[in-house]
Amino acid sequence: MVQEKGTISIHTENIFPIIKKFLYSDHEIFLRELVSNAVDATQKVKRLSSLGQYNKALGDLRVRIAVDENAKTITISDSGIGMTAEEIKKYINQIAFSGATEFMEKFKEAKDANEIIGRFGLGFYSAFMVADKVEIQTLSYQDGAEPARWICDGSTEFEITEGNRTERGTDVILYINSENEEFLEKHRIQEILDKYAKFLPVPIQFGTRTTSEPDGEDEKGETKYKQVEVDNIINNTNPIWTKQPSELKDEDYLNFYHELYPLAEDPLFWIHLNVDYPFNLTGVLYFPKLKNDFEIQRNKIKLFSRQVFITDEVKDIVPEFLMLLHGVIDSPDIPLNVSRSFLQADSNVKKINSYITRKVADKLGELFRKDRKAYEEKWSDIGLFVKYGAISEEKFWEKAKDFLLLSNTQKAHHTLDEYNEKVKTLQTDKDGRVVYLYTNDAEKQDAFIQSAIKRSYDVLVMDSPIDNHFIQHLEMKLEKTSIKRVDADILDRLIQKEDNLTHVLTEDESKKVKEIFEKAINNSNMNVTVEPLSADELPVTITMEEWMRRMKEMARMGGGGMQFYGSLPDNYKVAINGNHKLINRILNAGDESQQTALAKQAFDLALLSQGMLKGADLTAFVERSVNLIGDNEAVANKA
Ligand code: ADP
Repeated sequence: MVQEKGTISIHTENIFPIIKKFLYSDHEIFLRELVSNAVDATQKVKRLSSLGQYNKALGDLRVRIAVDENAKTITISDSGIGMTAEEIKKYINQIAFSGATEFMEKFKEAKDANEIIGRFGLGFYSAFMVADKVEIQTLSYQDGAEPARWICDGSTEFEITEGNRTERGTDVILYINSENEEFLEKHRIQEILDKYAKFLPVPIQFGTRTTSEPDGEDEKGETKYKQVEVDNIINNTNPIWTKQPSELKDEDYLNFYHELYPLAEDPLFWIHLNVDYPFNLTGVLYFPKLKNDFEIQRNKIKLFSRQVFITDEVKDIVPEFLMLLHGVIDSPDIPLNVSRSFLQADSNVKKINSYITRKVADKLGELFRKDRKAYEEKWSDIGLFVKYGAISEEKFWEKAKDFLLLSNTQKAHHTLDEYNEKVKTLQTDKDGRVVYLYTNDAEKQDAFIQSAIKRSYDVLVMDSPIDNHFIQHLEMKLEKTSIKRVDADILDRLIQKEDNLTHVLTEDESKKVKEIFEKAINNSNMNVTVEPLSADELPVTITMEEWMRRMKEMARMGGGGMQFYGSLPDNYKVAINGNHKLINRILNAGDESQQTALAKQAFDLALLSQGMLKGADLTAFVERSVNLIGDNEAVANKA
């Protein structure tokens, strides 16, 4: 007997085709929506009971999902508050948006399915993405309520009749259409439940599974096992982020980490987030051990809303520099159907973002102060986060400048203040600027590093992918400080002091030396100068100016407006140490060809020490060296 027929009040005949088509890409979220509704209805009845507004037994509150491959149905059943026929009309038939016109307008602008579902409260209707027909069988918790049945074939026509449920709660039955039969496969449903329902607060049962159970002992006294069918409860209803930090041990955090990421190594440390004002947020963030491949590790933070998984694209909620972290964030202030454009505009999201930044900074500061040694040991893993954060978020920099470490070639770590204190006496130039020296490749720049160390200068190691940017940031932030790569120039010019060394060469001799080298090098991109350096400095030093190198690096990384620099040839400065005894020898060598050969040899040695001697030049160098040794033998034999 049909009790009532009617039209779903949206005044637009073709809304379902639109929803279906529009939501095409994320069909699987229908299950998330329906299971969430079932969980909400269950939570509501629990709350009514605890408030004394519902006095019957709550009974078994689990939500059940059943697939019937023959009937081609999926049924989601709960023992929640249920609905009366009136409530169905109110909640299901009147789609919660202010008008069809608005819907039609907004849906054109919307960028993804979530946005539409969220904005218009269409959670339940996502069922029509996969079903031709949807049926509700429900019995309200209210005294004297009658069971009700609602059925709709995806047009705007629906039907409400008497239902057949005898227990409080709701069944939603989906008659899966032919294009979506993948959802009749058990493993597919299990997969979706694992993704969205793994930490829901109400037990979710999906059929049964077989397991083995002890079954007495055999003759040898060994335990026997038997195969038994047990309910397949797919979720953990009390994940650790719902508990107080005081209830938890390190082991609990580690176990949960491995539950989330079964293949990952232990994390370095974690932060338990817990706020209730001005927004609600709980969660646990883990600092993973960094692998080289950053990209693969991105998008590992899972976002939940009241234990329902929403997304692992947390780009706007978590500051960019913390995207490498792992873990979970749960906030009821983020709606289930969260969309990108919503996140970007939402003011809670901005607050969450800065809260997380602050918590992470506080935790790092605490680790640093509590156990500096352990902190230093972790620095190679966390340094990248900290530097990235310092560059990208001013508020983070304000805190991080106290626990940011600089490491040098001796593998010692200093804070910014400590480092300034350490080097300022020796490394201040004549204009009162402190010059920090660094290497980005200690092996390649060893000759320069050794020269610096010989003068008791310190050399920082800045070899991570982010250090280029970090150096610029430090220069901007630190007063009267310059940061120069150790091979950017000869030391006397990197840290220029008052007392200029005097030339042992006369002006004419200097000119002559310059000519000899220019001829030997025979390359217009090498600018030769003869300098009065200390006698123990290298005879020939090849450098590229700091600014030129940075421009070129930026051009390579695709920096805007830098292409011009990228197109310039590599220009180098060749400093000849006029005070080195080898230069004297070259000047006094027998004839011009010998002078050129020796100069070429000295130049090639400089190239060689910087890994710049390659191919045919390298072969020629080796041949020439062999000959030179031969010549010396001939000389020795003559004597
Ligand atoms: P939302 O959940 O965002 O309100 P839905 O379209 O998913 O939007 O659901 C509309 C309403 O229908 C819910 O707010 C609830 O009142 C009712 N409802 C849906 N599913 C159930 C259920 N399993 N048990 C009881 N009420 C339900």
